Amino acid sequence: MATQETVDHKYVYDFAEGNKDLKDLLGGKGANLAEMTNLGLPVPPGFTITTEACQAYLATGREPDGLAGQIEAHLESLERGMGRRLGDPHDPLLVSVRSGAKFSMPGMMETVLNVGLNDRSVVGLAAQAGGNERFAWDSYRRLIQMFGKTVCEVPGEEFEHALDEAKRARGTTNDLDLDADDLRGLVDAYKKIFLKHTGRDFPQEPREQLDLAIRAVFESWNAERAVLYRRQERIPADLGTAVNVVAMVFGNLGPDSGTGVAFTRDPASGAQGIYGDYLANAQGEDVVAGIRNTVPLQELERLDKRSYDELLAIMARLEGHYRDLCDIEFTIERGKLWMLQTRIGKRTAAAAFVIAGQLVDEGLIDLDEALHRVNGAQLAQLMFPRFQLDHDFEPVAKGVGASPGAASGKVVFTSARAVELAAEGEAVILVRRETNPDDLNGMIAAQGILTSRGGKTSHAAVVARGMGKTCVSGADEIDVNVPAKRFSVAGQTVNEGDVVSIDGTTGKVYLGEVPVMPSEVVRYFEGTLDPDEADDALVKAVHRIMTHADAARRLAVRANADTGEDAARARRFGAQGIGLCRTEHMFLGDRRELVERLILARTDTERSDVLAALLPLQRDDFVEIFREMDGLPVTVRLIDPPLHEFLPPLEQLAVDVAVAQERGEDVAKEEALLAAVRRMHEENPMLGLRGVRLGLVIPGLFAMQVRAIAEAAVRVTREGGSACPEIMVPLVGAVQELETVRAEAEKIIAEVVGDSGVEVLIGTMIEVPRAALTAGQIAEAAQFFSFGTNDLTQMGWGFSRDDVEGAFFWRYLELGIFGISPFESIDRDGVGRLVRIAAEEGRAARPELKLGVCGEHGGDPESVHFFHSVGLDYVSCSPFRVPVARLEAGRAAVETVGSDSR
Ligand code: ADP
Ligand code: MG
Ligand code: MG
Repeated sequence: MATQETVDHKYVYDFAEGNKDLKDLLGGKGANLAEMTNLGLPVPPGFTITTEACQAYLATGREPDGLAGQIEAHLESLERGMGRRLGDPHDPLLVSVRSGAKFSMPGMMETVLNVGLNDRSVVGLAAQAGGNERFAWDSYRRLIQMFGKTVCEVPGEEFEHALDEAKRARGTTNDLDLDADDLRGLVDAYKKIFLKHTGRDFPQEPREQLDLAIRAVFESWNAERAVLYRRQERIPADLGTAVNVVAMVFGNLGPDSGTGVAFTRDPASGAQGIYGDYLANAQGEDVVAGIRNTVPLQELERLDKRSYDELLAIMARLEGHYRDLCDIEFTIERGKLWMLQTRIGKRTAAAAFVIAGQLVDEGLIDLDEALHRVNGAQLAQLMFPRFQLDHDFEPVAKGVGASPGAASGKVVFTSARAVELAAEGEAVILVRRETNPDDLNGMIAAQGILTSRGGKTSHAAVVARGMGKTCVSGADEIDVNVPAKRFSVAGQTVNEGDVVSIDGTTGKVYLGEVPVMPSEVVRYFEGTLDPDEADDALVKAVHRIMTHADAARRLAVRANADTGEDAARARRFGAQGIGLCRTEHMFLGDRRELVERLILARTDTERSDVLAALLPLQRDDFVEIFREMDGLPVTVRLIDPPLHEFLPPLEQLAVDVAVAQERGEDVAKEEALLAAVRRMHEENPMLGLRGVRLGLVIPGLFAMQVRAIAEAAVRVTREGGSACPEIMVPLVGAVQELETVRAEAEKIIAEVVGDSGVEVLIGTMIEVPRAALTAGQIAEAAQFFSFGTNDLTQMGWGFSRDDVEGAFFWRYLELGIFGISPFESIDRDGVGRLVRIAAEEGRAARPELKLGVCGEHGGDPESVHFFHSVGLDYVSCSPFRVPVARLEAGRAAVETVGSDSR
């Protein structure tokens, strides 16, 4: 027995009862239809069945109690208002049954038009339309077609064939040439198709049509393509869709009727103006279906000036009301305009910035709101080089933009071939049906990756994003034949060695080499394009919004940079210091030889000789960086990787030694090296002798680095500059490790710095879970913490990044174990919790403790918001991500203000 509550639960809302803020309950379409109704705009009357009804239906497989009665009541009131009954034989009310979820899922779910037509009401409809039989039979055949396809899963092609057949019999290709008799014949043909596939006659009972259509819309939520789309767009799977039942208005009543779609501004560039398409004498989906050629909306001015002017006035009103770009659908029935849909329009990244800037100028929004309307992912997109498409480059296929960028190269089909050609200096695009872990080397060698299967979470997509490599996945028009080394697309064959170009942002694929142009936004950030002089609306808008973000944000943004050159670039991009200067590269190149000697040293004297030789080299490196970052903090991390990484690989060395011995050469040195490599071999180097452990085990190593840093700082300061070094000890897990290193370092610093006025901070990375959990103790010995979230993620999850990303992350994503790789965006619940604990306990022990993050998460939009909320002082990321982090830090700040002042 149903409880009182379920009986009373409200599942159906009249359009007059809803509003735009009820998207969760009414879906986007329903909420906006209600909003327009209440604005007094001409919306055909109707009602919305809630997402809750859908959720209940999907959970139990049947309509919830009370729903049928509420639909009945709303239908009756609709009938009363219209003065017609659903499917009445003499004067039928017809309705559309339209899906509409909270988030728009274009083309993913179902709509059925003209519900209520049957063998009898079709006659009444013709009579009511002034004897327009053609119109009535056209509407009826559309109902059978849409109902058959979406409610009863009749293959759509069968209807399309029958329609083509009817046109052929008439000797035409235009459906407008079919007359009433042709269409009546088509209805017969459609009914036969319906019977053949469903085993029953097309339902004549109007209310049964309605109920079946509603149920089909509920079920369309779980259609395969909708499920895939949601996964790709990260839309939760349990929202369900609302169903809108709307009185039909007819765009197919003759030349004074029609249907169209429009944007209130250009969704591609953001330019002001009217952008849309119109189709006379047509119904609903004809515009998007491309059945006939539409005309630009401006033509409507000539065809029906009154409706055109009204439409423009409504569009201006909607923009003012929603304070944003709107995307609308409308129909004109015999010179009377009806609004059928509006929503906030999707737009390109460039348009997002331009429109936000325009709306500020128009006084519709303030700068905080403008900042809210753009995001770091869009900014990042605008910073990639773009294809220059002004010539006649037409894409041959379109897949999923899986990892942004623009790449051209010769097509290869195997990883091995990719590696081979890349070694010869060729740019290659690796083309596969889908990739797997065996393709890793080829993916590294390629400029870009193109697959014909899989979406944003496929192996190719996940790995490419991890590597920052351009990738288009799931371009399913491409037929890949690996053994034959070719693929075919749009009737053409592309062989190994032919050049293709792929756009990882739009997912488009081009044949041949498309020229690439640098991003204007990057030129602006680099300072080579002056926003005041640029006649580029985008650059001006970016400048304005970035300026506001910088003023609003509380998080500072630093960069990870290891050389003077990187440091200079980071500074141009707005970095307020270096959050991570790695010192490993200072042991590479011609300095390897010294490192080998260091490892092989048998006596203290030998070792200190080598370190003495390394000291001036490192000092010069630091001098260069401190000069570039004049006045800004530079966090230098003492050497971190295991030293054997600087030695040749074991196998290679063993072979070299064996060959040399064979030849009778003197191999004493190589043998010693081989012995050292054997001795130092580690099963799990990531967990082995590295980081602070090196400093504690190899005498003098850290001391040399500390001295080089302090001496460089003193030199730059004596030159009249200002160096602010912060020495960072990696991989600390226990305060005793840090204390030991610090005691030695402080002695050296005191000795070097003297009265120069240089101040050197000493702090630690927090990247071992134990460090996070004992942060209160560690803070006693540290002046700052920098969260190394890459290692913290590796050790927090027990994932070896290099192994797991390529091996099985796609499967984890598919299973929904996580929605995004924890290396891409910080795992708030686990790794993020470690960060929060360490920040809180560290600050409790030492209130002036500086807190930052230097993992790659520092440049990830979602993660930046998290670090803001934890109260860190700064994030540090690669120079190229600095603007993204600045923007997101600004957004995080205005969002917090917004929710605080609620
Ligand atoms: P989608 O979400 O795919 O756009 P819609 O529910 O908006 O689906 O409907 C598809 C088409 O049918 C649209 O072009 C819309 O304008 C048209 N349509 C929907 N309801 C009506 C109606 N009551 N009268 C006339 N046309 C309608
Ligand atoms: Mg649809
Ligand atoms: Mg629509």
